[in-house]
Amino acid sequence: MLNRRTFIAAGAATVAAAPAIAAPVAVTSTTMLKPKGKKPRIVIAGGGWGGLSAARHLHAQGADAEVVVLERNPIFWSLPMSNKWLIDVLNTDYLLHDMIGPSRKYGYELVQTEVTGIERDKKIVRTSQGQIDYDFLIVAGGIRNGYDAWFGNDEKAIEFTRRAYPSGYTADAEHVAIKNKIHNFKGGTMVMTLPPPPHRCPPSPYERACVMAWYFKKNKIPAKIVILDPKPRIMPIGGGFKAAFDELYPDIIQHIPNAKVKEVDPFNKKIVTTAAEVKFDDAILMPPHQAADMVWRADLIGKTADGKPTTWAEIHPTMLHAKEDPNVYLVGDVMGAVSKQFGYYPKSAHVANYIGKIVAIYIAQRLKGQEVKTLLPDNLCYMMVSGEPKEAISVQFDYEIMPDGTISQKQIDIDIRSADLVEEDHKWAQRMYGDFLA
Ligand SMILES: Cc1cc2nc3c(=O)[nH]c(=O)nc-3n(C[C@H](O)[C@H](O)[C@H](O)COP(=O)(O)OP(=O)(O)OC[C@H]3O[C@@H](n4cnc5c(N)ncnc54)[C@H](O)[C@@H]3O)c2cc1C
Repeated sequence: MLNRRTFIAAGAATVAAAPAIAAPVAVTSTTMLKPKGKKPRIVIAGGGWGGLSAARHLHAQGADAEVVVLERNPIFWSLPMSNKWLIDVLNTDYLLHDMIGPSRKYGYELVQTEVTGIERDKKIVRTSQGQIDYDFLIVAGGIRNGYDAWFGNDEKAIEFTRRAYPSGYTADAEHVAIKNKIHNFKGGTMVMTLPPPPHRCPPSPYERACVMAWYFKKNKIPAKIVILDPKPRIMPIGGGFKAAFDELYPDIIQHIPNAKVKEVDPFNKKIVTTAAEVKFDDAILMPPHQAADMVWRADLIGKTADGKPTTWAEIHPTMLHAKEDPNVYLVGDVMGAVSKQFGYYPKSAHVANYIGKIVAIYIAQRLKGQEVKTLLPDNLCYMMVSGEPKEAISVQFDYEIMPDGTISQKQIDIDIRSADLVEEDHKWAQRMYGDFLA
C-alpha cells in the first residue's frame, strides 16, 4: 500500500511496465523513452487534476490513440481538502490516491519521470529518462512559486524561505511541514502572505487561516494570524470569510488589505508591505504563482503589451490550444487569460478537471475528423471556516459565450456558513475522485 512516506520519499522511476529490478540506464540526449507506434500519440505532461482528467476522458471519448502521461510523483496527492487535513478534520487516506489502477482501467500509460524540456519544432518532450515524440501534447504542469519576485536570484534566501516558511501550494512534502508547524506552534504571530491574483484556488488561503485559527482556539494556543493580502478586500466569498474572521476568530485573525509585499527578510523574520511592516514568530509565505517550468521551457508564456512575460500560457480562449500551436493544448492552472471581462478562469481543481474533459473531447473530435464545437467549464468551491461545528461557505462561477464571441462570467457567493455545505464539499470531492481516479 502506498502511504505518505512513499509520497514524500520517492524519486523518479518508471511506474508502468517496469521490471522488478531495473539496471541503471545512461540517458543521453537521443535516448528514446518509447518508440513510436502506429496510432497517433497524445503525450500529457503533468498527471495532476487536469492531466489525469484529460487521460481518463480521452478513453471515454473512444479516441483511437496511444496516450502517455508523464508525472514526477508516484502517487496522487489532492490539494483540495488538504487544508482540512492540516488540522486533522480529514485523514491522510482521504487525500492519497493510487494512479496506477486508473491508468490500467482507462488504457493510458503512466510514466513516473521529470519533464525536462519541450521542443515544439520537433514535437518532442524531453524527460529524465529519455525523449518521447507526440502528435498532440497536453501541457498540464500546474504552477511554480515565483520567489524571484521577492529575492531575484538570491538562491540562499529562496532555499531558506522554501524550507523554513513553505507555501504548501504544490503537491509535495511542504504540506507535511505546514501540518507540523501548526501542531507545534506554541503561540505568537503567524504571518501569511497571500499571492497576488491570479493564483491557485483564490479562496483557499482564507480557508487555511480559518482552519488554523479554529485549531489554535480549540487548543488554547495564544496565537495571532496576520493575513497580508495584496487585494483591496477579501475575495471571493468576502462576506462569508469576513463574518468568520469577525464572529469566530476576532482575537486571532487580523486581515490587512492592500498589503503588497515590498521586502521579505526571512532570516530576521520581517516583512515590509505597502500597508504594514510586520515581525513574525512563524509564517506561511506564499510568493506569486506562475505557470509551471515546463510552460516556460516550451516557450508558451504570453507577453504583456510592454513585452513582459504574463507568467501564464497564452491560449486560444475557446479552443484551448496554444495561441501559435494548434497541436499543443494547455489544461488547468497553466492557462492564461481567456476573457477581457474577467481575465482568467479560477485556477481550481474543478476547472482543471472540466478543461481536461473538454480538451479530450476536442482532440477526439479532431482525430475523428469531426467539427470541434466550443464547450465552456463552470467552477464550484467549498471552503471550511469552522471545525466544530463543521461549517463551510462556497462560491460558484458560470460561463457563457456572448453574441460577440467573448466569454462572460457570473459569480454566486454563498456567504452564510452551514453544515450542509460541508456535506456538499464531501460529495463534490467523491464525485471528482470518482470521475478520474476510481
Ligand atoms: C490548499 C489548497 C486547497 C485547494 N482547494 C481547492 C478546492 O477546494 N477546490 C478546487 O477546485 N481546487 C482547489 N485547489 C486548487 C487545485 O488544487 C488546483 O487548481 C489544481 O490542482 C490544478 O490542477 P492542474 O492539473 O493544473 O495542476 P496539478 O494538480 O498541480 O497537477 C500538475 C502536475 O504536474 C506535475 N509536474 C509539474 N512539473 C512537472 C515536471 N517537470 N515533470 C513531471 N511532472 C511535473 C506535478 O507533480 C503535478 O502532479 C486547492 C489548492 C490548494 C493548494
